[in-house]
Order: sequence, then C-alpha cells, then structure tokens
Amino acid sequence: MSEYDVVIVGGGPAGLAAALYTARMDLRTVVVDRGPLGGQLLNTELIEDYPGFESILGSELATKMGEHARRFGVTVRDFEPVKEIDVEGNIKVVRLESGEELRAPALIMAAGGLPRYLQVPGEKEFWGRGVSYCAVCDGAFFKGQELAVVGGGDAAVEEGDFLTRYASKVYIIHRRSELRAQPILVDRAKANPKIEFIFDAHVKEISGDSKVQVVRYEQHGELIELSVGGVFIFVGFVPNSGLFKVHVNHDEAGYLLTDRNMETSVEGVWAVGDVRSQLTKQIATAVGDGTTAAVAASMYVTSLKDPARA
Ligand code: NAP
Repeated sequence: MSEYDVVIVGGGPAGLAAALYTARMDLRTVVVDRGPLGGQLLNTELIEDYPGFESILGSELATKMGEHARRFGVTVRDFEPVKEIDVEGNIKVVRLESGEELRAPALIMAAGGLPRYLQVPGEKEFWGRGVSYCAVCDGAFFKGQELAVVGGGDAAVEEGDFLTRYASKVYIIHRRSELRAQPILVDRAKANPKIEFIFDAHVKEISGDSKVQVVRYEQHGELIELSVGGVFIFVGFVPNSGLFKVHVNHDEAGYLLTDRNMETSVEGVWAVGDVRSQLTKQIATAVGDGTTAAVAASMYVTSLKDPARA
C-alpha cells in the first residue's frame, strides 16, 4: 500500500498537467498509467494546434510533459494497469492489477478512452492483420498499398491524410455526405491527390485470407467491394469511466459529468480531459482541465488536513 495526497489515473496531457500543478503545490502526487506517459499524444504524428508549438511531434510533446512533471517530484507508475477505483470514507483507493493499492484523499481521473469499434464482421478477426486504430503506429507497414479509412471526424480525416505518406491511395469511407471534421483538416485532405472520399457508405464487412484484402460497403442500396491492404478505423472514442466501483454521474455515452471545478458527483474525485463530458477533446482543453482540478484538489486536501483553512 502506498499513500499520497493525490492519485492521478492517466498520464496523458490532462493527467500530466494536473500532476505538474499538484506537485508544485507540494502535494505528494502519483500518476499511474497502463502504458507509457503521453496518452493520445503517442497516437498523433504532428500537433499544430497547441499554443506555443507551431508544429511538434506528439511523442516529443509527451516526453516534454512527462519530464516537466517529474522535475517537480511526481511519482510515475507507468505500465501499471489499474484494476478498479474505490472509495473508503475520505480515502480514494486505486487498486492496480499487480495487487498494490494507491491511496489518497484526492483522485483525479484522467484515463481518457479507447477507440470505438465499428462492430462489423472481420474487424476483430483482422485486428493486427490489416485492421488498425492507429495510423502513427501502423502506417509504415502499408507502404505502396491502397488503404481504407472509416469515419468522418477529425481523427479519420487527419489520420487519412497522414497515411498518404505511405499508402499509394487512401479511401475515406464515411456514412454521411458531410464530414464532421474541422474545415482546415478537410481542406488539406481534399487537396491531397492520394485521397478519395466515399460518402453515404456503410461498411458492412472486412475480409481477406491471412491479411485484409477487401472492405465491403453499402452505398445507395448497392453492395460495393474495394480491394485494400488495410482498414484504419476512426469512428470515435469510448471513455474509460468503467473503473469505478462506486457510482459516478455520467452522460449517456459514459463521459463523466463534472462541475466547473472538474469535480464529479463524488467528493474528492475530479475528472479531466477526454474522460469528461465536454464540447471538445483538445490538448489545450485537457491541460486546462488538469490545472483546474489540481487547484481544486489542493484546496480539498488542505481543508482535510486543516479544516480551519477550508
Ligand atoms: P468523432 O469526432 O466522434 O467522429 C467519429 C466519426 O465516426 C463521425 O464522423 C461519425 O459519423 C463516425 N462514426 C461513428 N460511429 C460510426 C459507425 N458505427 N459507423 C460508421 N461511422 C461511424 O471522433 P474522432 O474523429 O475520433 O475524434 C474524437 C475527438 O478527438 C473529437 O473531439 C475530435 O475533435 C478530437 N480530435 C481532434 C483532432 C485535432 O484537433 N487535430 C484530431 C483528432 C481527434 P457521423 O459524423 O455520421 O456521426
């Protein structure tokens, strides 16, 4: 068992910003993550919308944020999957898969989410054999091949554009005739001669032999077959809010609801970044969430230690 003032679950931008602030405020802080520090930054090639960095590699920003937090004395427990989160009186208990418990009065939930599955035949079977959810991780395996990208949001359009550095052609298959992605990303993709958009198309199946060979979609009542070497799926995101053993208020999609200080319906539990119900999922907003939660958590911890200062 290890005791802290603040446990932060998730080492992406929201969690690392929170950690930087709580550690600077002299709170004993631990960040736990099932993987390396960086969260979604590690699945992003280039970042061009984080103020102060006109253009920076996601992996580089992740390293910088991690080093910055460590410099203020944050304990980092990376590659440590969390099994569950419980509440015992004032104390929040984070149980790791390893069996260890991290305990603290304040818990900042910054665990982000996972890609949403398309849920079509072949998706699971060909995962890792042509089906991927990460262009930065897997794009280079598809040099010179034709690829399909499924989705119409920022991720599909941005990652589709990124994949053209390896692929000979990228088909972006979207279920509607309008894209959800930001205009700047759409304009860039439309100007890319290697990208072809396929609209009003519903992917029905992914198939192949040992690897993906074909994606089948329905368009205007017709079933169409496209030969591709890989299918990259970017159809949204499912928040990692299921770790709590206690009830924490959330919206229909599972995103945690917070007040303006990022506090959830459970006293002493804050939610920040992509796991929180909010308008957008940006690095800048994640960092802002983490900062707000850190300041609120610090006030909470101080009030527990010294009720006269509450
Ligand atoms: P998203 O914005 O939720 O878009 C998901 C896309 O997948 C939508 O176009 C949606 O179609 C489609 N979709 C959902 N379920 C589907 C299904 N079952 N079959 C086919 N298509 C389906 O998700 P995202 O693109 O992953 O982005 C997630 C968040 O990260 C967003 O807030 C985004 O702004 C942010 N992000 C930002 C950047 C950036 O700023 N550069 C980059 C990446 C992600 P409909 O449009 O018809 O609903």
